[in-house]
Amino acid sequence: MEPLPKSGLYYPNNLARIAFLALEDVMGSNGVNALLSLANKREYIGNYPPDNMENQIDFSDISTVIGTLDDMYGLRGSRVLAMRTGMAVFDETLKNIGEAVDVNDEGFLALPLIEKMRVGLSFVGISLTQSTKNVPIMKEESDHFSYAFQLCPVCWGRKTTEPSCHLLAGTLRGGLKWVTRGLNFNVTQVKAHSCGDDVCEFVIPFEPV
Ligand SMILES: [Zn+2]
Repeated sequence: MEPLPKSGLYYPNNLARIAFLALEDVMGSNGVNALLSLANKREYIGNYPPDNMENQIDFSDISTVIGTLDDMYGLRGSRVLAMRTGMAVFDETLKNIGEAVDVNDEGFLALPLIEKMRVGLSFVGISLTQSTKNVPIMKEESDHFSYAFQLCPVCWGRKTTEPSCHLLAGTLRGGLKWVTRGLNFNVTQVKAHSCGDDVCEFVIPFEPV
């Protein structure tokens, strides 16, 4: 993984902290230490970002760590790890923010699936962007949602052969799973900055898996 120049765009400390802790859950602390060492981000070893919402983690740091994860585990292995990490990021963010919506409330349970999906996807947007201006663009087509990030910390400054911002896909899946009480949706990334597109865009079918 080539070193990336600083982006001047920042991700909140606590979201980066949650991502590191979630990676630790899936690959162990030795695994994360090896990853950070290989990524040349040794300053984070045993020294994760603090638990606050200040925007201090440069996008290039996140992107370098994820790019190194691809190098270490190959695209398939990295995909599984990043997807699980993304789902954990959503779960932990939710715990931190407190449940803004009671998904077990009778009124909520009675809502059509698509309405629940709207809530879950908006909530991911809010939790990822509450302290940045990076508001995702959500659209509804005939049978799916499209969800696009104009700025992406996952692939910032990198080039990939296929869209691979699995951390974001996992976060979206985590949000949908929460709001539907356990349903899985096939979140597919169709565009990526790292592939030369102007957004990182995901497609989410209305039907669960
Ligand atoms: Zn991306």
